[in-house]
Amino acid sequence: MGCLFCNIVEKKIPAAIVHEDEHTLAFRDINPVAPTHVLVIPKKHVAAMHDTSPADAELLGRLFTAANGVARELGLVDKGYRLVVNDGADGGQSVFHVHVHVLGGRSLAWPPG
Ligand code: 5GP
Ligand code: ZN
Repeated sequence: MGCLFCNIVEKKIPAAIVHEDEHTLAFRDINPVAPTHVLVIPKKHVAAMHDTSPADAELLGRLFTAANGVARELGLVDKGYRLVVNDGADGGQSVFHVHVHVLGGRSLAWPPG
């Protein structure tokens, strides 16, 4: 079993990877809700945002910097895009390895459902 996204990091489960560096991995969501829907994750396993502390500041900085880089590489920056982190049950989190959703390619409604 183990963590789904750790298995993707270890290439035990295939994914459509759009960016990889020493600390982060970005791949297309298997069930996209926008024309561009990419998940950006730290390679290190951290279950959720609520498990982070100031000691994770560098990891979180790398994560959001990578997410912005993906948005730029995929041509989302001119029109705009959205970064989303779902946390816990009410936040809609379903995979407990922290991840940033990069959403773009259409106008996104606010507030979210
Ligand atoms: P969450 O609901 O935790 O914020 O987001 C988890 C996301 O992971 C969902 O959007 C879901 O579609 C995506 N997902 C679940 N399983 C897989 C998978 O095996 N591969 C990929 N690429 N995405 C997945
Ligand atoms: Zn994991």
